[in-house]
Parts: sequence; C-alpha cells; structure tokens
Amino acid sequence: MKSRKLLMIPGPIEFESEVLQCMAIPTPSHVDPDFIDTFSNSLKLMKEVFQCPSGQAFIVAGTGTLAMDMAAANLIEAGDKALVISTGYFGLRYAEILKRYGAEVDILEAELGDIVSMERIEQQLKFKSYKLLTFTHVDTSTAVLNDAKSIGTLGKKHKVLTVLDGVCSVAAEEIKQEEWDIDVVLTASQKAVGVPPGLALLVASQNAIKAFEQRTSPVANYYGDWTNWLPVMKAYEDRKASYFGTPAVNLVIALEKSLQLIVKEGLDNRFNRHQRAGKAIRAAIEALGLGMLSKNEQVSANALSAPLYPSQMDPATFLQTVNQEGIILAGGLLPELKNNYFRIGHMGSVNKSDLLATIGAIETALMNNGYSHELGIGTAQILKHF
Ligand code: PMP
Repeated sequence: MKSRKLLMIPGPIEFESEVLQCMAIPTPSHVDPDFIDTFSNSLKLMKEVFQCPSGQAFIVAGTGTLAMDMAAANLIEAGDKALVISTGYFGLRYAEILKRYGAEVDILEAELGDIVSMERIEQQLKFKSYKLLTFTHVDTSTAVLNDAKSIGTLGKKHKVLTVLDGVCSVAAEEIKQEEWDIDVVLTASQKAVGVPPGLALLVASQNAIKAFEQRTSPVANYYGDWTNWLPVMKAYEDRKASYFGTPAVNLVIALEKSLQLIVKEGLDNRFNRHQRAGKAIRAAIEALGLGMLSKNEQVSANALSAPLYPSQMDPATFLQTVNQEGIILAGGLLPELKNNYFRIGHMGSVNKSDLLATIGAIETALMNNGYSHELGIGTAQILKHF
C-alpha cells in the first residue's frame, strides 16, 4: 500500500483494524439480542473509561457538537446563568450553543496559549451565582490542556453544574469524572475513543440528571431531549429493547470493540502513553527550533500539539510537502492565526513509529522549504523518549 498515508490530525484518527472490521459486518437489527448486549456493554464500558461508575451514559448518533448541544439543551432553561471558560475556538462555540437555549452567558477567556487561572474562575464564581459552567479539557484549536480536577472541585464548592468538553481528551488525558465531581463529560467517537465519526458520547452524573428532572420548561431540542433518550439508555443497559431513534448500529458495535481495547490497555497505561507521546513531540519540535502555541509544559495537551511555523514558511506548501512524505497534518484553526501554526494529532492508537514518521516528514518539509536545521535532531528526541 505505497499510497497509504498516515492520518495525524486531531480527529478523525488512525483506527485499530479490529474496530474498522466492525464497520464492515452485515448490520443487525437494533433490537437483535446480540446487539442489545453490545449496546449494554458499551454503556457500561463508557462509565469505566470516563471513571464515573454511578453516572448515566448516553450513546447517540451525531457528532461532538451534538453532545455539547444535548448537555446545554437539557440543563439550561431560558434565563439560567452560565459561565464559559474558554481556551479557544470550542469554548466560544459552547457559549453560542448555550445562548440558543436562552442562557445568560459570561465568558472568561484565556490569553492565547494559556488557561484561565483557578483564582480568576473562583473569583467569578464568588462574584456571581451560575447554574452551569463549561470548559474545554483540551481545546483543539490551541492544544491547551485545562486543569479538569481543579475546575471540578471549584464547581462542587460553588454548587454549579460542571460540563467538560472532552472531545479532544477522553481516553487520552486522565479524567476521573466521579472523583473530580464533574457533572457532564462529553466526547465524540472519532478522536481518542477510536471509532469512526458519527457518535455523540456523554456521561451525566446523578446530580446532572436530578437538575434535568427538576426543569420546569420542556427541553427546547426534540432530538436531543433526555426525556426521549433516558428510557432508551436505561433499557439497553438492562439488556432490553427500546426505541427512540435508530442507533448507528455498526458504530456502536465498533465502540464496544474500541472501549474493550482501551480497558485492556489499562487507563493509566493509556494516559501514560499519551503523556510520553506529547512530551516526545514537544521535545522534537523544540529541538527543531520551532515554538508552540501552548505556553508551557503544564498547559500542553498530550493528545495534540500546535507548533508555530518558522518565519517565511508558506503554510500550504509546508503541509503539502508533509503530505507528499506520507503524513497528513492539520492547519491552524483559530481564524486570526491560522497561517501561523499547524496541528499534529497524536492520540488513540498512536505509536513510536507514527511519531518518528511524522517528525521525519516535518523535518524534510522544513528543509525542502528553506528552513535549515540539523537533519535527525527532531527524530532523535522521539527515540530518546521511547
Ligand atoms: N469540542 C472539541 C474540543 C473538539 O475538538 C471538537 C471537534 N474538533 C468538537 C467539540 C466538535 O466535535 P464534532 O466535530 O464531532 O462536532
């Protein structure tokens, strides 16, 4: 397969072949007893991977944005106050979603490449009372990693429901949803969870479900309404058939397989592997003399990196050369800075060979496009870290 390229973008990622095989099997009925077992197992495995044993898992056909939308639609009533902690593009998206449901939204925006300090968040929570707080664990536009444990603790202390957008972190960065008191953790299938795009995944705490049950107005989103989905998820978990909207059957079968592989690897092993990959990539980029969008090691994601181009580098030419070298990378996402940086996804099945090939391609593209550096200086860092 000489034409095969390695997909090193922040989702969709390279999927395990056992997971992809699930996509090709003849689609069973969504009420087939074997499929009901698969759905039940997937819901239980989600709670294990999110580390939220008493939570309520939801698996719904859609994308990560639907998962964001569902949390907002079900927990917000018109006039509720919500606080968005924004570390980039997806934080601002959450503010837009919340406004659609009538929330009065305040945004605490981080400086580019940094997080909002816990002091600033706490100050805001003392100053004003909120029903809901959202934050992006890893903002895919900046590769900034938030301190989820501390934000969860602050949320509990100030009695505000916390929603973690984990689209770019679940199954890559450590999350202990229950221990850290985070009310909703949501993600999508195509990133570190390791399943082709098409599933919105969410685990809600019992506290979040209680807040939903205490609503006085109907949920202003028909498809996403938990009134429709809760009985379906409960039935499937209890190995009974149920229906509201047809599940994405093959994707759910693939999800069970991928979650089994994740649990088999061991969550701590998996988080450590991502940390090592993140450190190795950052060391390689630094050795090549390039900067990073994320400000320091502490706030740098392990699932993706956002290196800055050297001056004079043409982004399109650079990415095209990397592509000719067999690696697909992503451009910048922040509209105002998209020509200043690129993004490397290193999550899910990523291994040492993938990282070596990626840094090798980046070295070649830099060299071929007029940036001088010692060949091999970046790849050496990958070897050192593994
Ligand atoms: N949040 C974050 C942090 C993301 O990275 C993404 C996707 N890149 C989304 C939300 C939206 O997910 P989707 O594209 O699956 O709707």
